[in-house]
Amino acid sequence: MTHLPNITFSPRRACGKNARASIQTTISAAFFALVAFMPGTGQALPKAEPVPGGVALIRLGEISAHPKAPRAWFGERQVLVASDAGQWVAVVGLPLDLKTGSQELLIGEGATQKALRFEVDDKRYPEQRITLKDSSKVNLAPADEERATREIAAIQQLKRHWRDAADTETAFQLPAEGRLASRFGLRRIFNGEARAPHSGLDVAVPRGRPIKAAAQGKILATGDYFFNGKTVFIDHGNGLISMYCHLDRIDVQSGDQVTQGQRVGLAGSTGRSSGPHLHWSVVLNGTMVDPELFLVAEQKAKKP
Ligand SMILES: [Zn+2]
Repeated sequence: MTHLPNITFSPRRACGKNARASIQTTISAAFFALVAFMPGTGQALPKAEPVPGGVALIRLGEISAHPKAPRAWFGERQVLVASDAGQWVAVVGLPLDLKTGSQELLIGEGATQKALRFEVDDKRYPEQRITLKDSSKVNLAPADEERATREIAAIQQLKRHWRDAADTETAFQLPAEGRLASRFGLRRIFNGEARAPHSGLDVAVPRGRPIKAAAQGKILATGDYFFNGKTVFIDHGNGLISMYCHLDRIDVQSGDQVTQGQRVGLAGSTGRSSGPHLHWSVVLNGTMVDPELFLVAEQKAKKP
C-alpha cells in the first residue's frame, strides 16, 4: 500500500538571474545529488501508514529540478522533507485524534504557496485494561495534578521544537532489546477509567539494561517527570524527536551529540509505571506517531 501522490511545481525562481546565482544553484544541485546518492547514509524513509497516529509520505517533486528542499506545513507545524530516490518527500506525522478523510499539506511560502490534498484512512487500535495498585497515579492529589499539568505543558514545548538539519536519520533502531509489550495507539483504561491512548511503544526491559539512541541526534532535554519518570529527548532535526521514558538513570546531558546505538541511560520504572520497561515515543511535526513505522531495518530483517 503506497500513498505517494505526485505533484509538479510551478517554477519558483529556482534559477538565478545572474551568473553567480546560477553557479550557486549548480553547486547546491550537485551537493544534494551527492547527499541523495551517498551510500551508507541510511536515508530509508519510515513506512507509509496514512492513518491517525501514522505517517503519510507525500512526494514533492524531483530533486534535480528543485535542488533546494521545499518547505511544507501540516496545520501550524513545519514538516520534515527528506530525499528518497531522487525525490523530495514530505514525511508527515498524523495525530491520533486526526479526522480521517481528506487533509491538506501546504507547500512553499507566500504567494506561491500551494495546497496538496491527501487521504487519511481509518484505523481501529486495540483496547488495553491496566490495573495500577498505586491509585495516586490515576486519581491525582491536587499538588501532583498541578505538577503533572506543568510538566505536560513543558513537554508539549519540547515536542514542538524545530531545528533545521541536513542529516536527519529516519531509519531507527529499537532502543532496547526486549519483548514489545504495549503497542502504540492502544486505547487504555486505567483502573476502569478511560485515559489517553498509548502514545508510544513499550519494550519490556529489566532494570539497569542499556537504553540506546534510536538514531544520531542532539540531546534536546532530560528531565524527571511525574508520569514519564526520568526521560531523555533526542532531537534528530527537522521536527523528528524521540523520547525515552521511565529510565532508572540518565547518562547524557542537554546539548550532547549522540550516535545511533549510543547509550543514553539505563532502563527502569520511574514515574507512572507498572514495572521496569522502556516507553519509547517518536514525535514528528509536534505529534506522537507509531515508532514501529521507523524500524525500517528491523522490518527488513524480519521479512528477508
Ligand atoms: Zn508506554
